[in-house]
Amino acid sequence: MVCMVPSPALAANGSAAAAAEKLRGRVIGTAESVDYRSFARSTTVNTREMAFDGDMSTYFASWERSYTWAGLDLGEPHVITRVGWSPRNDGQGPQRVVLGVFEGANREDFTDALPLYVITEQGVIGQMAYADVACSRGFRYVRYVGPADARCNVAELEFYGVPGAGCDSLLWQLTNLPTVSIHTQDGIVPYDKEHDIAATVAIVADGGATLLCDAATVRERGNGSRTFPKRPYRIKFDRKQRVLSAPAKAKKWTLINNYGDKTLMRNLLAFELSRIMQMPYTPFGTAVDVLLNGEYKGCYQLCDQVQVHKHRVDVEEMTPADTDGEALTGGYLVEVDAYAGEEPSWFRSSYGNPVTIKSPSADSITAVQAEYIEDCFDAMERDWPAYLDMNTFLRHFLVGELSGNTDTYWSLFMYKRRGCDTLFTGPVWDFDLAFENDNRTYPVCAKSDWVYRSGGSYAGNMRSFVDRIVVRDAGAQAQMRYIWGQAREGELTEGHLLACIDSLERLLEQSQRLNFMRWPILNTKVHQNPRLYGSYAAEVENVRHYVRERLPWMDARIGYTYVDGVAATAAAGSSVPLMIYNLHGLPVGTDAAVLRPGVYVRGGRKMLVH
Ligand code: CA
Repeated sequence: MVCMVPSPALAANGSAAAAAEKLRGRVIGTAESVDYRSFARSTTVNTREMAFDGDMSTYFASWERSYTWAGLDLGEPHVITRVGWSPRNDGQGPQRVVLGVFEGANREDFTDALPLYVITEQGVIGQMAYADVACSRGFRYVRYVGPADARCNVAELEFYGVPGAGCDSLLWQLTNLPTVSIHTQDGIVPYDKEHDIAATVAIVADGGATLLCDAATVRERGNGSRTFPKRPYRIKFDRKQRVLSAPAKAKKWTLINNYGDKTLMRNLLAFELSRIMQMPYTPFGTAVDVLLNGEYKGCYQLCDQVQVHKHRVDVEEMTPADTDGEALTGGYLVEVDAYAGEEPSWFRSSYGNPVTIKSPSADSITAVQAEYIEDCFDAMERDWPAYLDMNTFLRHFLVGELSGNTDTYWSLFMYKRRGCDTLFTGPVWDFDLAFENDNRTYPVCAKSDWVYRSGGSYAGNMRSFVDRIVVRDAGAQAQMRYIWGQAREGELTEGHLLACIDSLERLLEQSQRLNFMRWPILNTKVHQNPRLYGSYAAEVENVRHYVRERLPWMDARIGYTYVDGVAATAAAGSSVPLMIYNLHGLPVGTDAAVLRPGVYVRGGRKMLVH
C-alpha cells in the first residue's frame, strides 16, 4: 500500500485534503475494449465504465495494448488530492498496474495534461491502493493511462479532490529529476525521423515549482540508437525556449535514450571530460524522466541539438545570399559520418571520408556553398598542418580516448568560421559505447594502442587520416602532451572524476529504479554490452573501475608522469631521454644544454632555456 502523506501545498490551500470527496463524472477513455472469451473487439464487455462501477470483480481491458486509458470528465476543474486503484482479479493483474500513470488536463484530448502520480508497486487483488497527489493545479479531466502492453487492465479507479482551478505553485515530478511530458495530437506516436508530429511538451522542474509548456513537434532521432525499443526523440518547440538550465534559447532539443548505457550517465560524464579538456563548446545535457501520451518511457538525457546556434556551435549563420567573398567562407557545420550516404546533403572527400553538411541545411544550402565547404575539407585533408585547428582536434581526441569511446571517428563534428581558413573539431557527442561498454574493444585498458586503432569504428578512411596526425607527427604528439599535462595539473584527476560519478549516481538513483522497471535489461546484453553486471550499482562501479585504470594508461601512452597532483617531466631514473620540441611542435633533440635560449616543450610541459 502507498502511505498517506499530507500535502504541504494543499494544506496551505486551507485543509483541502480534509474536504476532498470522491469525485464523480462522465466516464471517458479508450472506447474499444477486449472480450477475452472470444478475444474480440467489444464496446459492451470489459468497458471503461467498469473501472468506475465500484465492483472489484469487473474491470476495464482495452483492445489496443498500449496508450489506452480510462478517466472522468468532472464537468469543472478540481484540484486532485488523492487517487486510488485496484488491479484486475487475475494472475497478471497486480503486475499490470506497475508504471500506470495518473494525469489531469483541461483539454478533453489531454494534450495539456500534467502527471499526477505513477504507480511503482504491484497492486493487491480485491483491495484499493491510494496515493496522495501533490499537484496544486485544478483539472476538469482526469485519467489513468495503463503501462505499455497492459491493455490498461484495471478493476477500479477513484479520484478525490475539491472544486477549483487551483494554481501552479506545486506541480508533480516523477522523481527528483525534471519530468518531460509529451502529448501528441490525436495520440500519434512518433514513428520515424522524417515526420514531425504536432505535440504539446510540458517540462516540470525544480521539484515541481516551475513549468515550461508549449506547442512543439516531436519525431524520432539518431541512427543506431533508434533501433532500440526505448526510442530517442527530437523536440522542436514552435518558439525558442530556455529549457532547464541550458545556456541556449532554442527550438530544437534532443532526448537521448541511453538504452545500451545502463549507467544512464556516460554522455553526462563525457561532457564533463569535454569541459575539463576545455573544448570551446560542450553540449548541454541533463537527466530527465520522460512520459509520452501518459506512458512512462524511462530516464533520458535532454541535450542540445548539435547545430549552428548561439551558445551551441556558435559560428555565423549563412543565408543563400552568402555566395562570394568573405561571406562564402562561413560558418559551416559538417559531420564526418558513417551514415552520411543516408543524408540529403553530403559528399565523399578526396581522402575517402563521408561527410554530411549539417549547416547550411539541405533545404537552404546553395551549390556554391556546398562546393566551397567540400573544397575546404579536401584542402584540410591534403594539408592538415595548415588547415586543421590542432587545439580542438587534439582535445577532442583526448576526450575520445580517455573515455575509451569506440565511436569517436564514426561520427565527428567539425565547423568552419567566417574569415578563418581552419576547420575546428567538435563538439564531442555520443558516448553510449564509451567507458568500457563495447565488446569489440573490451577491456580497453588491456590494449597497448589507442582505442581508435584497437577495434574502434570509423567512417571512411578516418583511421588512416588520424594516424597521420597522432601516430606519425611528433609535433602533434608534443602538443598533445602539453594539453594533457595542463589538464592533469587541473581537474583531470581520479578524485574529481570519481566525485562526478558519485554525484551522478546519487542524482540518478530514483530515476534509474523506474527506468529498469520499464526496461528490465540489467541481466540482458543489449547493443554492444561486453558484460553483465546485474545491478545499476555494479554498472556504475564498472565505470569507476575503468576511470581508475584509464588515467594512468593515458599518462603512460602519452609519456606523462603524474605525481601527487604535481606533474613531473619524466620518471626519475628513466633511461630514455625525452625529446624536446619547439613551440611549432618540431623535435629539436634531447639535450637542453645545446639549445638556443627560448621556450620549448618536453614531456608535455613548457620549458625555458636561458
Ligand atoms: Ca469494476
